[in-house]
Amino acid sequence: MLVTVEGIVIGRRSVGETSCFIDVLTDEYGVIEATAHGVKKLTSKNAGSTALFTYSKFCFSKTGTRYTLNSAEPKYNFLGISGDIEYLSLAAYFADVMKYSSASEQEADGHLRFMAITLYELDKKRRPPELIKAVFEMYVSVLLGFAPDLRACRECADYESDKMYFDYDDPGIICGDCIKEQTVSGSDIIPITADILYALRYIVYSPVDRIYKLEAGADVISELSGITEKYLLKQLDRSFKSLDYYKSIKL
Ligand SMILES: [Zn+2]
Repeated sequence: MLVTVEGIVIGRRSVGETSCFIDVLTDEYGVIEATAHGVKKLTSKNAGSTALFTYSKFCFSKTGTRYTLNSAEPKYNFLGISGDIEYLSLAAYFADVMKYSSASEQEADGHLRFMAITLYELDKKRRPPELIKAVFEMYVSVLLGFAPDLRACRECADYESDKMYFDYDDPGIICGDCIKEQTVSGSDIIPITADILYALRYIVYSPVDRIYKLEAGADVISELSGITEKYLLKQLDRSFKSLDYYKSIKL
């Protein structure tokens, strides 16, 4: 059976001298692992279209659950990413998150566009890496069905209050007046500033083509990134070596 699909190469591993396994993120089938014969040869017509972080149109032959690459046509590559170790290590972390959270053969609507927009930001380097990280972590949580309810205090429905708290366990917000009546002990609840709440709401409730336009100061971005990271890892119940690596090299 032939399968024609657009996707982004988010993983690539050598097999023997000349071939590779590639992981391709698609909307229709989640992440596809395919054998790409001969793509390490300089003369291979599919070398460019199967390079890491390339957006291509693929034609696979499928036998049972196995995919083999027939041909591919590159549509866009994000070559700029590899020129900067900080942006590149973030791309590797994001690829790991997508690989881990996409079930194969399952529709993953919106994942491809989100990843393309994300890689475009990493490629262009117009925004600080830490901002891209924070936005990615919170938005991917939304995409995976873990959106926190940030509309208002869950007890009294206050939209804005002098003091607001974020609850990791029952994802949402509680105001300073209501928190006294809560049993906070044993819960993972932290106070958040108005800037943090604004940023979280911006990411969760904006359309995907606007999420990276979030404007925030360096202090806010740094705090936000800690919150979004903890939130995502808590939802996925794991960590990533590629994230540890990013943290070890960031400025
Ligand atoms: Zn309240």
